[in-house]
Amino acid sequence: DRVDNPYAGAKVYVNPEWSANAAAEPGGSRVANQPTGVWLDRIAAINGVNGGMGLRDHLDEALVQKGSGELVIQLVIYNLPGRDCSALASNGELGPTEIDRYKTEYIDPIAAILADPKYADLRIVTTVEIDSLPNLVTNTGSRPTATPECDVMKANGNYVKGVGYALNKLADAGNVYNYVDAGHHGWIGWDDNFAPSAQLFKEAATAEGATVDDVHGFITNTANYSALKEENFTINSTVNGTSVRQSKWVDWNRYVDELSFAQAFRNQLVSVGFNSNIGMLIDTSRNGWGGSARPTGPGATTSVDTYVDGGRYDRRIHIGNWCNQAGAGLGERPQASPAAGIDAYVWMKPPGESDGSSKAIPNDEGKGFDQMCDPAFGGTPRNGYNKTGALADAPISGKWFSAQFQQLMQNAYPPL
Ligand code: BGC
Repeated sequence: DRVDNPYAGAKVYVNPEWSANAAAEPGGSRVANQPTGVWLDRIAAINGVNGGMGLRDHLDEALVQKGSGELVIQLVIYNLPGRDCSALASNGELGPTEIDRYKTEYIDPIAAILADPKYADLRIVTTVEIDSLPNLVTNTGSRPTATPECDVMKANGNYVKGVGYALNKLADAGNVYNYVDAGHHGWIGWDDNFAPSAQLFKEAATAEGATVDDVHGFITNTANYSALKEENFTINSTVNGTSVRQSKWVDWNRYVDELSFAQAFRNQLVSVGFNSNIGMLIDTSRNGWGGSARPTGPGATTSVDTYVDGGRYDRRIHIGNWCNQAGAGLGERPQASPAAGIDAYVWMKPPGESDGSSKAIPNDEGKGFDQMCDPAFGGTPRNGYNKTGALADAPISGKWFSAQFQQLMQNAYPPL
C-alpha cells in the first residue's frame, strides 16, 4: 500500500557511485552523503555499464542502507524513442519509431525487477521521462521554437505511448511511486503552455492502459537551474506602475520561481483529473545561485528591467539556457515535506554530472553535440538568440565534470 508522501519519515538512497565521485573532489565530503537520482539512461544501464552498478545492485544496496527503517530510492526513467527532441546533448539510443524496443527491452525488464518481492519494502520513486511531454507542447507545430524532431515525436505519438506504457507497467508494483516530469516555470509557466501541458500529461497518463491512479505526482526543474524562490520581487511586483511581467527576464510569464509554479501547477493538474492528493518534487540540485554574486536586495527602481535584473537570484543570461550554467550553485539540500503540496526537494540530477559537451566528442551512447553547451554559440529561438552561459571544456552529458562540481559547491545556497 502506498503512503501519501513516500519521503515522509524515510531516508533516501545514496548512490555509492556518485558519492565516490563527489568524495574524491577537494571539499566534496561536505555533500558526498546526499541522496541523488539513479539514471537508467539506456538499456545497458539496467545491468550496469562498463562494470558499474546495475538496477539490482542499486536495489540490493538500498536494502542495506535501509536497515530497519524506511528508505526511498530514486530512479530516473529516461530512454524514450527519439529522446531529447529539441536538443542534441542527450539524444539516446532509440530512434523515433522504436517504441516496441522501449517497451520490451527497457520498461518490461525494469518493471520485472521492481516487482521482485525481495524489494517490496523499499519505496521506489520513479521520475518518468524528463523533458519529453513538455517538448511536445512548446517545440512543435507553428511555434517559432519548433524542431523537426519534436514534430515527428508529436505526430507518431511515441512519447505519449511510451510514458503511458511506463506508468502503467511500473505501477504494477505497489511500492513504486511514479512522478511525471513537468518541465519548470521558465518553460511551462506561460499561459500558452500551462493548461495545454496539464492536458497532455492527462492524455499520456491515460494512454496504453495507464490511469491517473498510476501517477503519484510530478517533478519540476529536473536537471534545470530555475531558482526555488525569488525573494526580491514577486509576480505581482510593479515598478512605477509597470508590472515585472513586462521585464525582459520575466517576459509575461505567470511565475517568477519554481516553488510558486509547482504549487500552482499541482492545482491545475488536479483540475484536469489527477488525484487531489498528488505531490510535487522539485529538483534543487543546481538552483542555489549563491556565492558572492548573489543579490542582497532588490534592484534599482529605474525600470522593471533594472529592478528584476538587479534583484534576481537566477543569474542566467536567459531562462531558456539549460547546459552547464556558469555561476550556478547547489540548491536546498534534499528534504521531505518542505512546503504545501511539495513531497520533497530532491537532487535528481546528480550535481557534477555534465549536461552536454562543449565541443563534439565521439561516443557510443547516441549523445550528440548541442551548441547550447558551447559558451561561444549565439543561441536559438528557444533562448531568444542569447549567449548560452555554458561552462567551457565540458565532457558529454552524464560524465563527471570536476570544474562544474567545484563551482556548484562554491556557489551553494544555502552555503555549505
Ligand atoms: C544524460 C544521462 C545522465 C544524466 C544524469 C543526462 O543529461 O543524458 O546520460 O545519466 O544526465 O547525469
